[in-house]
Amino acid sequence: MTYDRLVCANCAAPVSQGRCPVCRANRERLQQESPFAGLNPMALIALLVMLVAALAVVAKAA
Ligand SMILES: [Zn+2]
Repeated sequence: MTYDRLVCANCAAPVSQGRCPVCRANRERLQQESPFAGLNPMALIALLVMLVAALAVVAKAA
């Protein structure tokens, strides 16, 4: 989810503009979460692929 498209329920302005305390609180929260939110799906898939590949290598070697 891209937080700059989020519209605040309190002031109806984009949350990224931080016009009201609710916006600023949401922006802070989303900025803290965004590294994980942006990374997680792709990182999870990459991790899974690597895990399966590693298992395949181990299974062949054993
Ligand atoms: Zn707001």
